[in-house]
Amino acid sequence: SKENRELHVLFFPFFANGHIIPCVDLARVFAARGVTSTIVTTTHNAPFVSRTIGKSQITLRTIKFPPPEETGLPEGCENSESALAPDKLIKFMKATVLLQHPFEQVLQELHPNCVVADMFFPWTTDSAAKFGIPRIVFHGLGFFPLCVSACIRTYKPQDKVSSYTEPFLVPNLPGDITLTKMQLPQVPRDDEVFCKLLDDSNESELKSFGVIANSFYELEPVYADHYTKVLGRRAWSLGPVSLCKRETEEKASRGNEAGIDKQECLKWLETKKPNSVIYVCFGSMTTFPDAQLKEIAMGLEASNHPFIWVVSKGSKKNQEEDEKLEWLPEGFEERMEGKGMITRGWAPQLMILEHEAVGGFITHCGWNSTLEGVCAGVPMVTWPMYAEQFYNAMFLRDIARIGVGVGVQTWVGMMGGEPVKKEVIEKAVKRVMEGEETEETRRRAKELGKKAKEAVEEGGSSYSQFNSLIEDLRSRAQ
Ligand code: UDP
Repeated sequence: SKENRELHVLFFPFFANGHIIPCVDLARVFAARGVTSTIVTTTHNAPFVSRTIGKSQITLRTIKFPPPEETGLPEGCENSESALAPDKLIKFMKATVLLQHPFEQVLQELHPNCVVADMFFPWTTDSAAKFGIPRIVFHGLGFFPLCVSACIRTYKPQDKVSSYTEPFLVPNLPGDITLTKMQLPQVPRDDEVFCKLLDDSNESELKSFGVIANSFYELEPVYADHYTKVLGRRAWSLGPVSLCKRETEEKASRGNEAGIDKQECLKWLETKKPNSVIYVCFGSMTTFPDAQLKEIAMGLEASNHPFIWVVSKGSKKNQEEDEKLEWLPEGFEERMEGKGMITRGWAPQLMILEHEAVGGFITHCGWNSTLEGVCAGVPMVTWPMYAEQFYNAMFLRDIARIGVGVGVQTWVGMMGGEPVKKEVIEKAVKRVMEGEETEETRRRAKELGKKAKEAVEEGGSSYSQFNSLIEDLRSRAQ
């Protein structure tokens, strides 16, 4: 690894927590193997990135986000969370293209051996090429969602159906994968800017040096092989990146929102029996209408299992109001005293999932959460909303067979669907926590968790993939 230090890799994550976290974890994997690692971000994203870096040997380099006169955005609106409203999101996506110049100045100055940039920065392939530097794409995804996306893009099976709800088969992909148009990532944000961004992203990926997947071979061998051998893409699976420990997780929070205190949470978990607690979290971006939250509350209560629930509701602006939790069913908090932990803030998810008291996870199936659940060996209730989450849910349910669906067809709230009812939630929770097939599901989940840990250890598949990536970079540098 002394040799590795001669290599310098520059990481450029997209400005959203769900992208920053795995990218910083990935940088940590490189740093741990002796590679000089730098992360580029903007001033307002720097505090979150810095907290996520913690004590790791990673350098942070900040560039300036273009000013309000150029973007039409308010001052400080530098991540997709503060730009969630659709009108802002478009301006925000356009503003990120203006970062090309300051980013190239960093390349000129540091001249790294490789740029690992997010899929949402397609222009970085050209920027890197100007300086003769290879660019690698990081989606933060595994091979199954990457394969589905590639097949949808190539064969466009969605163009042959007449409605959003008519199922179609994803062609030329192992496993008879059936989807509806409503479940495609481009649909909820069916606008030109977003679709063009996805097109550009795809084009820049085809010109890039390759793709790093946040996965490990044993999790999805059929799709890892399909991606590299059938689709002919160059890819390295270096994950699960969350296993390269984030030692400062307790300090990480979403903006200024207070989260659950790690120690308090640990103490609470210690009082619970093994595999008795269900953890409920829908990632960093999702929100639900009150009617849905109420059903979740009632479903959890009816399931009769202790729970930790990270409530995703409304925007930060309304936080004070939301804090009152007025939408909760009458007397819920009193009845749940000692039985349920509810937070509006940021939860120490890795710690919670890894705790032996936790026996199930209701997840929106963001790939990070999906993989973190796999690592922890917990069966999951899958509740996808948007992006590739429907693909990931399908993976957990039908391929890894460690997930139970709540049967959602679309994002409740965004697409105006009916809330998922209390009875359905209760049933799904009971199925993963105590149902007949649970023992078998839990055994499979634990087995995968064990394989995940082996993959990143010396001699494991991800560990070896890292070596071959380093070799590829070296031979390219000569
Ligand atoms: N996360 C967390 N605490 C929370 C919410 C989320 O630590 O209260 C972390 C979670 O562990 C994961 C990431 O945030 O690493 C969310 O990424 P994911 O891909 O699951 O979903 P997204 O936020 O991108 O929708």
